[in-house]
Amino acid sequence: MKRPAAKPPRGSGRPGSSAKPARPGRRPPRPSRPRTPPADPAAAQAARQTTAYLKKLFSDVGFSIDARRGQNFLVDLNLLDLLERTAGIEPDDIVLEVGSGTAALTERLSRAAFRVVTAEIDPRLATLARDRLIDCENVELVEGDVLAGKHQLDPAVLAALDAAVAARQAEGRTGRFLLVANLPYCVATPVISNLLLVRPFDAATVTVQREMAERMIATPGSGSYNALSVWVGAQCRGEIVRVLPPSAFWPRPKIDSAIVRLDLEPKRRQAIADLPGFHAFVRDIFCHRRKLLRGVLIRLAGGKQQPAAVERVARLYQTFGFDRSIRAEELAPETFVALQQAFAASE
Ligand code: SAM
Repeated sequence: MKRPAAKPPRGSGRPGSSAKPARPGRRPPRPSRPRTPPADPAAAQAARQTTAYLKKLFSDVGFSIDARRGQNFLVDLNLLDLLERTAGIEPDDIVLEVGSGTAALTERLSRAAFRVVTAEIDPRLATLARDRLIDCENVELVEGDVLAGKHQLDPAVLAALDAAVAARQAEGRTGRFLLVANLPYCVATPVISNLLLVRPFDAATVTVQREMAERMIATPGSGSYNALSVWVGAQCRGEIVRVLPPSAFWPRPKIDSAIVRLDLEPKRRQAIADLPGFHAFVRDIFCHRRKLLRGVLIRLAGGKQQPAAVERVARLYQTFGFDRSIRAEELAPETFVALQQAFAASE
């Protein structure tokens, strides 16, 4: 349920709120800062997700952490603030969160967004999250795996997003679709990849492993550049907002993480005529990233024992002016887009 906006604190610099008149010739005193800074009373009341809070909560309910599910909770409250600020949620936005955990982030999202769809695979955490979200009427918690397979999002999550859009339309409002999450590492890549395939976000603000963040924003020729870099780069602008040390989480992961923001570039996306075809093409090519591109394309075209396949690829090389020694990792995302279209058309 949305809460009313907070009143400005007393003495906060509103006209007439200054306590003493300024003495002539001296700078007027600075308005004193309120002792309780949170502007939103609900935020002030919310239980703060610290390590001590989580340890107590989990010991009270007999919950043990399942590391295979990427259960590393964000306990640095400044970074939780940064994640929320970076997402820049507006009141008409619909937000998808993957991994509700104990709903510390969900609760914040609920206060900022029109509606939040949050998915949690662990039934014990889903119960804790539901308890915490009892007053948040604009949150739909989908209990289960956000993925229905490696290459598919859970239909229940997609249906909940459809329902959120319908509810917003019914109120005559429009807004964006955002992904905001402290993503479980095990599913971060398929979640982002599949959303870009079937349900593109306008922007995504997520914490992921640093290595994955670097892959998402990598440029051709760099060591991190791979299929994900091409798939994301062909549709989005991206930046790493902050690298997060293991101490930002409890329990501590072994490696650094990062907050990354991706913004969809609609023109780039529109340039991709066949999204599933492009997705599959990029994946196929990068299965052999160390091999020469020519050999990989000939294999995709039918194999080197087929003269037509060799001829087809030779024509493509001529059209694109590629050197015979070029490798996939040297091609920019937009070149990949053009190449896939030309390759498909040359069949
Ligand atoms: N949002 C919480 C936070 O920021 O503290 C928890 C984030 S924790 C990194 C990841 C959460 O994702 C865990 O609660 C985990 O159980 C959940 N999770 C892991 N795999 C999942 C999946 N396939 N589908 C939905 N939730 C998943």
